[in-house]
Amino acid sequence: MKKRKFIKLSAITGAGIFTLNSLSSFRTGMSEIPGKIKKDFLKLTFKPYTLELKHSFNLAVSSRKTTPAMLVEIEWNGITGYGEASMPPYLGENQETAGKFLASLKLEQFEDPFLIEDILSYVNESALGNFAAKASVDIALHDLIGKLIEEPVFKLLGLNSEKTPFTSFTIGIDTPEIVRQKVVEARPYSILKVKLGGGNDREMIEVIRSVTDKPLCVDVNQGWKDRTYALEMAHWLKENGVVFLEQPLPKEQIDDIVFLKERSPIPIIGDEAIQGLADLLKFKDVYSGVNVKLMKCGGIREAYIMLKTAKALKMKTMIGCMTETSCAVTAAAHLSPLADWCDLDGNLLIRNDIFDGIKIIEGKVTIPERPGIGVIKL
Ligand SMILES: [Mg+2]
Repeated sequence: MKKRKFIKLSAITGAGIFTLNSLSSFRTGMSEIPGKIKKDFLKLTFKPYTLELKHSFNLAVSSRKTTPAMLVEIEWNGITGYGEASMPPYLGENQETAGKFLASLKLEQFEDPFLIEDILSYVNESALGNFAAKASVDIALHDLIGKLIEEPVFKLLGLNSEKTPFTSFTIGIDTPEIVRQKVVEARPYSILKVKLGGGNDREMIEVIRSVTDKPLCVDVNQGWKDRTYALEMAHWLKENGVVFLEQPLPKEQIDDIVFLKERSPIPIIGDEAIQGLADLLKFKDVYSGVNVKLMKCGGIREAYIMLKTAKALKMKTMIGCMTETSCAVTAAAHLSPLADWCDLDGNLLIRNDIFDGIKIIEGKVTIPERPGIGVIKL
């Protein structure tokens, strides 16, 4: 190993995300390389992008054919980091709010991209909310830093890319014909994530079971209202090979969710109820696990802390995504070695992906070994 690379790796491995701060020390070393690094400041650019879905996305509470997104770039010293905000309507962000938020940021005040704590604290404190827009900056910054030190993000986090979990393929609420067709599309996947709560719960599972005996997980997206029905279904789903149940009841029905969690034979995972770290701590005794998503919590840095905290609290961990290009999905994949389950198929649900990145090989998440988040713009 070259001496320079050895020094670099020695300093970044072993201590996870917090070591990103210590990377600032490389700035001194890098500036000693004549002609390679010069004084510069961070330049943020962004443009709206509309994700077109292959199938309309039917959930218990909504249906849509597109998802608004924002593509973000941060450039420093001729190197560009890519980021993305994906904004499904229920999160309350859109291209207008994200554009306004991103335009308000003055990243040019920072001359050193390795001061990630300073930069992201500034971004976070610039306005309340805007978590998807904040995530786009966080992702682009991690991509930039990885490219600068020529290492993939999972290595910056001290994670083992061979320990990625199997990922699930999502099957939305639909007619039996379309459900069967989607099960066929999902052939490379070893787990299916089934959306329920559309009034045809048992039919959905029975149709899938007529085609495959793969393990299933179920996401109700707050679609059930009655805890007795939810508990009955939890037992029935367990008998039908379902491994966990995600957000079965509205997030406001806290007592009902505790009732269900205490009696359910399968883990109850919080998604809509748990946005960031504060919610995780608030609901640690309400859910058995958490579905962490970059767009909910504000990016890789917060997601890492949430996953580590959930593990410390002996909760089940899951990493998920929205409908996104391979940019944001690949960014999330770098954290997947920390997850018990993952649901990273958002890029496969759209027809106009403009990045190449994460691959699913025999149902398992494969993170690119390239520097940064490892995506290539097509
Ligand atoms: Mg969910």
